[in-house]
Amino acid sequence: MLPAAMAETIFTKIISGEIPCHKVYEDDLVFAFLDIGPLSAGHTLVIPKEPAVTLDELSAESAAAVGRVLPRLSRALVKATGCNQYNLLQNNGTRAHQVVQHVHFHLIPKPDEDSGLGVGWPAGKLDPKQGADLAARIAAALEA
Ligand code: 5GP
Repeated sequence: MLPAAMAETIFTKIISGEIPCHKVYEDDLVFAFLDIGPLSAGHTLVIPKEPAVTLDELSAESAAAVGRVLPRLSRALVKATGCNQYNLLQNNGTRAHQVVQHVHFHLIPKPDEDSGLGVGWPAGKLDPKQGADLAARIAAALEA
């Protein structure tokens, strides 16, 4: 039974086996399976079993467990698909394209221009003064 703040999602049901999936990896803290709507062959979702909604809510233990296995899963994906270029995508919040409210990392092979992840990158220019102020505020928030 999950705490009230952590609603059940399609991913908690996939972890429990209530909803079927094509599983590629599981350990005590992490689960990985093929995305049902792949952007390219091999598109894999890597999720912590902990039902945090966004990355900032995830425990260091679960984050470390996901981080530990990502390179290994990436190597397996490269080997299995023959595609050695890929993106790691992690969306937080609906405006940031998060649909399923359970932290997940997309591993998406990029075999050609037409498949895999397409990225809009509206780059600005960092103002030195604003940059210094923002970096100081973020660093201070880390201490809090
Ligand atoms: P998001 O947009 O939240 O970052 O991505 C959610 C992903 O979950 C989507 O790529 C979507 O295709 C995938 N997804 C949603 N429901 C299911 C499901 O029932 N099974 C699997 N395997 N993937 C799902």
